[in-house]
Amino acid sequence: MDNSDIDRVNQNIPEPPSPEPAPAEEQPVPDVNALCEEQYVRLEASIHQSTQIRSTERIRAAYEFAREAHGMQLRKDGSPYITHPLAAAVIVAEMGLDEESVMAALLHDVIEDTPVTHEDVARRFGEDVAAIVEGVTKLTKIRYTSKEEEQVENLRKMLLAMARDIRVVLIKMADRLHNMRTMEYQSAPKQLEKSRETMEIYAPIAHRLGMQKIKLELEDLSLLYLDPVGYHEIETALREREEKNAGFMERTEAAIRRRMDEAGITCGVQSRTKDIYSIYRKMFGKSMEFDEIMDIYAFRVIVDDIADCYNVLGCIHELYKPVPGRFKDYIGTPKPNMYQSLHTTVIGTEGIPFEVQIRTWEMHRTAEYGIAAHWKYKDGIQGRGDEEKFAWIRNLLETQEDSDAQDFISNLKVDMFADEVFVFTPHGDVKSLPAGATPIDFAYSIHSAIGNRMTCAKVNGRIVPFSHVLQNGDVVEVITSSTSRGPSRDWLTLVKSSEARNKIRQWFKRERREENIVTGRAAFEAEMRRQAVPLTVLSDERALPRILERISVTALDDMYASIGYGGLSAQKTVNNIKDEMRLIERTAKKQGLNPVWASQDLKNAKAVNGIIVEGIDNCLVKFSHCCMPVPGDEIVGFITRGYGVSIHRTDCKNYASSAERESERDRWIKVRWSPGEEDLYQTSIAISAADRDGLVMDIATVLSSLKVKVDALTARNGPGGTANIYITIRVHDKAELGIAMAKIMNVRNVKEVKRQGT
Ligand code: MN
Repeated sequence: MDNSDIDRVNQNIPEPPSPEPAPAEEQPVPDVNALCEEQYVRLEASIHQSTQIRSTERIRAAYEFAREAHGMQLRKDGSPYITHPLAAAVIVAEMGLDEESVMAALLHDVIEDTPVTHEDVARRFGEDVAAIVEGVTKLTKIRYTSKEEEQVENLRKMLLAMARDIRVVLIKMADRLHNMRTMEYQSAPKQLEKSRETMEIYAPIAHRLGMQKIKLELEDLSLLYLDPVGYHEIETALREREEKNAGFMERTEAAIRRRMDEAGITCGVQSRTKDIYSIYRKMFGKSMEFDEIMDIYAFRVIVDDIADCYNVLGCIHELYKPVPGRFKDYIGTPKPNMYQSLHTTVIGTEGIPFEVQIRTWEMHRTAEYGIAAHWKYKDGIQGRGDEEKFAWIRNLLETQEDSDAQDFISNLKVDMFADEVFVFTPHGDVKSLPAGATPIDFAYSIHSAIGNRMTCAKVNGRIVPFSHVLQNGDVVEVITSSTSRGPSRDWLTLVKSSEARNKIRQWFKRERREENIVTGRAAFEAEMRRQAVPLTVLSDERALPRILERISVTALDDMYASIGYGGLSAQKTVNNIKDEMRLIERTAKKQGLNPVWASQDLKNAKAVNGIIVEGIDNCLVKFSHCCMPVPGDEIVGFITRGYGVSIHRTDCKNYASSAERESERDRWIKVRWSPGEEDLYQTSIAISAADRDGLVMDIATVLSSLKVKVDALTARNGPGGTANIYITIRVHDKAELGIAMAKIMNVRNVKEVKRQGT
């Protein structure tokens, strides 16, 4: 990373090359100390004038600590290094910030440039101050190389997101402002680089935070290095104009004051010529001639309350002829960055147009210091939690209506400034990702092929797990391999961006169809069971096409595959199916028909076909054909692939063998008979007998006498005059079946009666 911030170029001051180091007393230091002390006194004056800080004891301590820490370091202009943090602290005090901010401004370079650590600062001055200093230090590490507009916007956001505490941004502004003020001592390339960065990153941030005074100064200073010719052209034009209209500003100011006195309005009047960069923008951006610019001269009338603003406006318009269409009421409709004032342009008595801005003192402070001013007014001195501070700033920013600002703010939501995280590619491009994003999100944001082939990721040069959560300012590098086997399903739980999620799903969709069908089907059926939707609906000829159409697939396998790769959610799919079922049921009822699934007793919430499946209501239940259980049998349920739960006897040989297989073991679930069922259950018995005439007739007679219904009967002759008879009957329960079997056993020639499936 490029850490060479401009105020730190003197880190490598060569030691005096004397073989015998001179004793400290002989160094020419007294002047230096006096200079520093003088500056410190100036700081205290600003503190008393602009802040609510009562005691400067801790500030003095921070100053002395920083002075010691920077020791003999010098700035490019040859002054002691401490003059820079002192100057930054003055700017911070002028903004009206709190004690911690002023201290942090004094200490803002010690962690980066001296052996002092975060812990040292925290121990001496508290964690609050240390955290701010640390924050400013981090911002210094943001790299800036000339970029496209989108990248620049991301850089601005990254800076704000990294700051977390708005005071960090404000101190960084002060730091940058002082560096720009002393830019003349830097090399030409450095001047250009820092000016461009200031113009593109810092001035826009200052503007959005409403810090007009700092913004204008940053812009003018940057312009001086970015286009010295243009700058001097305007400077000269302004000077010539002033010479030509000698005394104009003074005369006009006096006239305004007189008029205010007559009207009995207490006010302050200020005059100035417009800042060079705004004239520059009008001349070169809007191709206006210097003489066309109406607001080269600007006057400001500052009053105590809003009512007076409108009184002043009336007086000004009596005094001078207003230029039509130039009146703007930013009091009624404040600018997005909180700016409030009345603006009007009038023609002076000498035919010179000028602008008048009318505002209250509070509006004036806000106009100059923006967020910083509100910090002071709204937040008092101290004592509020960060949460509240953030909430307030967020609120402030979110009430702005300007679309540009809206866009800006919508990206600064959570945690003061971030539901986004900004990271660098190894080439220094900025990527914006959702907060909580991992290297997987990053890889897919570059290209899906990068994501699909990622084998390893580095953050700030160190290898990290894929679950690593990226932080603002991280440099992320992805290592790919052409032999990578592609993303893993777990990645879907690690990614935060929908872009990455979609690309991973795409891959699974393409690469793993068979696997997707199996996993998707299992998920689907589990969800059907959970929501107690009978799977028979899929075998209903009317329902199936409508269901497929509703979820936009052409075949069931496509549906399973989609669920498998995550394109469809199982839950939503089942919800859709339920909706469709309701529609079909309604029309079917009108026609007196029953859909397939309606043959189930859906009204009985618990038992279906006399079976209670543990933990699942209303699922489809069928009785296995292999062992045909009846009430009284010990039973167990098997979750089938697609046809609900199939009921077996615990002594069924299929159950015994299936439960041994690991792949199927988990599909066996507990079921029991619902008590008090009156239904008949189908079951089969096998009879072997020595064949004789009338055997089948006799057996049928026995069953008939017992009032047992016979559904089917087949008889086969076996070898050696044997007969095998298979009967399917319907009984209420095992007891009834037992009686029937005993009676059959008593029929002459019958050797064995047993149930099917054993
Ligand atoms: Mn600095």
